[in-house]
Amino acid sequence: MICLLLSCTGTSAREDRDLVSVLEHIESTEMSDATEVSSEVPDELLLYQGWKSMLPEEDQQWISKTFFRRNPRTNKTEFHSDILIKLWHTPPPPSMASSARNKVDRYFSHRLFLWMPVNFGGVKLLCPHGSEFGKCGGVLTRVGFHQKTRMVLDVDSFYIIAAEYLQCSSCGAKVISWAHNIISQLDLDRQIVFPCILTAKFACGRKVVELLRQGGLGNSSSLLRRQLES
Ligand SMILES: [Zn+2]
Repeated sequence: MICLLLSCTGTSAREDRDLVSVLEHIESTEMSDATEVSSEVPDELLLYQGWKSMLPEEDQQWISKTFFRRNPRTNKTEFHSDILIKLWHTPPPPSMASSARNKVDRYFSHRLFLWMPVNFGGVKLLCPHGSEFGKCGGVLTRVGFHQKTRMVLDVDSFYIIAAEYLQCSSCGAKVISWAHNIISQLDLDRQIVFPCILTAKFACGRKVVELLRQGGLGNSSSLLRRQLES
């Protein structure tokens, strides 16, 4: 690139040397930036197939990097359950270093709530399925995470929720742990840890629901909507 530029300029030898020096500096800066950018090159995306299609694009890399590993023996993607010491997980913040060139993802990624009443809470849950003869009542065991994730509307942002998938040791039926008939089996201390209201179509944080319940003069649902959109 430097030779090409010099061939186009008609300058003296000294000016040429100065120009070379400047261009070398620019080129070395570009190379240094390129090195930093290469550290942001996405790693292999390791996620459940369902999560790949449901998670926002800006969250896939950090969730893959934080929770998933490829098993070198089986070559399968596995969730690392030994790092689960909390329910809420925050994406890495943008770097404040002056030389950093953050990807846009760093500014728009979402918090993740992993709902794991069996693995984390250690509670015994019973199968809610049954027949006309009554509930099955078999013990539910964890069979990983459900393939579906949801985006939940909170007061100041959206967050992602994912949940354990449970299977009955008696009838073999499966149930997702955010189902109402699972959460209702927990004691109140654990029920209030679950942060949202889920319906088939909508997912809403409890704080938003509490604001809606305060509806009265000057606190209309349209006012709340404007507050959430702002
Ligand atoms: Zn059952």
